[in-house]
Amino acid sequence: MVNPLLYRVLPSELADSAQIIDFRGKVGDFERLCKISETEIKAVAGSAQTRDWQDSAVRVGLSFAWLDPGMRIVSATGQVTAGLPVVCQRCLEPFELVIDTPIRMLFGESLDDSRYADYDVWEVDGTAIVLRDVVEEALVMAMPLAPLHDASTICGRQAEEIPAEYPETTRPFEDLRARMKAKD
Ligand SMILES: [Zn+2]
Repeated sequence: MVNPLLYRVLPSELADSAQIIDFRGKVGDFERLCKISETEIKAVAGSAQTRDWQDSAVRVGLSFAWLDPGMRIVSATGQVTAGLPVVCQRCLEPFELVIDTPIRMLFGESLDDSRYADYDVWEVDGTAIVLRDVVEEALVMAMPLAPLHDASTICGRQAEEIPAEYPETTRPFEDLRARMKAKD
């Protein structure tokens, strides 16, 4: 299947054609997500992780438009949903966390303006972008620093052994995020 998220595209062209992206893929299509997931899985020594997490679904819906009459700023709005393998920071068992987050992104130059506070900003100066990067950024930003099972009742056996106020000594995402930022 052709993945429209992998093309190098100009935001202005997407806005000109009022492009709508409706893509169903899998975590395996996203390199950064795969790296994060691999790190998460490896963090659980000896865990019986048999599920093929690369096949977890990623659903992306995005529409592009010009935000301003002067056609200087492109907006991309929509939603992304993905099932990502994480480690519960309460019971240390791996589980699939479904992240469902809106995307509100602007593409343009010098967008440091309070009028755009409702949006995330992707500074571009007429260069092409790869939408996969935009989607990954949104998912990474939506990840909780300390993922937890919904309720302690479905936590693993260790839930009973760890007091609720157990200090969060490991925050894998915080470190990962910092490292990925440094790489950009
Ligand atoms: Zn748990």
